Amino acid sequence: MTALWDDILHNDQLIQYVAPIAVDAALLEGVLMRTKDDPNASDVVNYAPFTLLPSVVSSSLLEQAYSVQQDFNLLVDEVSQNTAFLESTLASTIKVDDFTAQLFKIYRQVLKEGVTQTVVLGINRSDYMFDQETNSTPALKQVEINTIAASFGGLTSRTTAVHRHVLNVLGKFTEASKLLTNNPSKGIAMGIAKAWELYGSDRAVVMFLVEETQRNIFDQRCVENELWKRNIRVIRRRFKDVFEKASLGNDKRLHIDGEEVAVVYYREGYVPKSYNKQNWEARLLLERSRAVKCPDIATQLAGTKKVQQELSQPGTLEKLLPNKPEAVARIRATFTGLYSLEMDEEGDKMVAMAIADPERFVLKPQREGGGNNLYGGELKQVLEKIKDSPERTSYILMDKIRPLPALNYLLRAHSPLKISECVSELGIFGVYVRQGKDLIMNKHAGHLLRTKAVEHADGGVAAGVAVLDTPYVI
Ligand code: ADP
Ligand code: MG
Ligand code: MG
Repeated sequence: MTALWDDILHNDQLIQYVAPIAVDAALLEGVLMRTKDDPNASDVVNYAPFTLLPSVVSSSLLEQAYSVQQDFNLLVDEVSQNTAFLESTLASTIKVDDFTAQLFKIYRQVLKEGVTQTVVLGINRSDYMFDQETNSTPALKQVEINTIAASFGGLTSRTTAVHRHVLNVLGKFTEASKLLTNNPSKGIAMGIAKAWELYGSDRAVVMFLVEETQRNIFDQRCVENELWKRNIRVIRRRFKDVFEKASLGNDKRLHIDGEEVAVVYYREGYVPKSYNKQNWEARLLLERSRAVKCPDIATQLAGTKKVQQELSQPGTLEKLLPNKPEAVARIRATFTGLYSLEMDEEGDKMVAMAIADPERFVLKPQREGGGNNLYGGELKQVLEKIKDSPERTSYILMDKIRPLPALNYLLRAHSPLKISECVSELGIFGVYVRQGKDLIMNKHAGHLLRTKAVEHADGGVAAGVAVLDTPYVI
């Protein structure tokens, strides 16, 4: 267990003193969320949950994560353009998983009609944990890549200042000065701005497609306000608004409330509960339009767990990124074991293995947002039930990544202050823009560190498990 802050962590009096100071710093810096009770009002807000102290991250692993991000951007972009690959990879999944099937139906429909969107904007976040057997060196292992609504780039841009202040108050001035600056919201906004510019209509707006329940609005405002700074107008609309008021004009230009929309930035639409019949129609309308969708439907599909699993199969990366052996090697180095549960011998073997040793694996459905994966006893139970049914192909199986825990305090409104054994997950934001065949931008745009108590198998800040953190790089 890393002992960097041990003198502080075990000093109860000091913790009692510094925790409220940390909370005030978070409020001052704007590390904010709306409340559960009043998720659509900003007149009562609270701080977003965060760690009292920054967590130790090895500099070589952070560098490795940054250095593979442009490769992942390229890979996602390639997958999104490879219809044959998406068709074959998702063929079994869409027979049994209604949500992925619906997305796929829209994908096919848009392809059939002809894609009118000429500019592509990708904003993703590749997430990792540090896999470590006791006494060995940790390894960077990818948990997943999020190609839609990758969030917390805004709030994390403000979290560093909070931890810097906390360390200063604790007399750790040198340590405080070493915290890396980090501003994903700026990089994300730069990508959106570039796509908006390439769309080529000065008067057109950027539309944030947002949820009915908007607790995480401040995270989104960080990106939005960066756009306003560049004199780009932003509107916020829900699927419901699109269904009621949006239309396609000349050349399938997207209009709503008298505005032409250049870019649709989805912060919604990645879970089944976002959709009713009308919202599916709204999604289809957006996808048919000329507006730059971030992501387009193909790129959303490229982010499914099934695609992630297929990418780990021998030879797949080489086919998708021919003549890029170095990129392939960098990407592959971050993969842990991923297994298909197709209705074949290999699938049978893996099902049996997982039932025999459920603690070794994570069972993942095609879902996002945290809280959907199955572990341990539950994994075993579900697999025993569906082992002979094609339903099993709606899941993939993954080796469990095992990071070494470290102690920290997780600060969460209305929760008692208590020390926890924690593990962290590092995300790197990637941004790319393509016009036709030309890649105009391909960048990493900063990081997000999220930390959770070890008793939670699953993660997610929005899911109420993980909290915002800052890497302390050594
Ligand atoms: P989602 O799209 O719902 O965020 P993830 O693949 O990120 O799905 O899984 C959710 C959480 O489950 C992660 O944040 C992580 O805490 C945990 N998790 C996922 N995969 C693994 C794994 N292979 N090993 C250990 N923990 C995992
Ligand atoms: Mg995800
Ligand atoms: Mg995740």
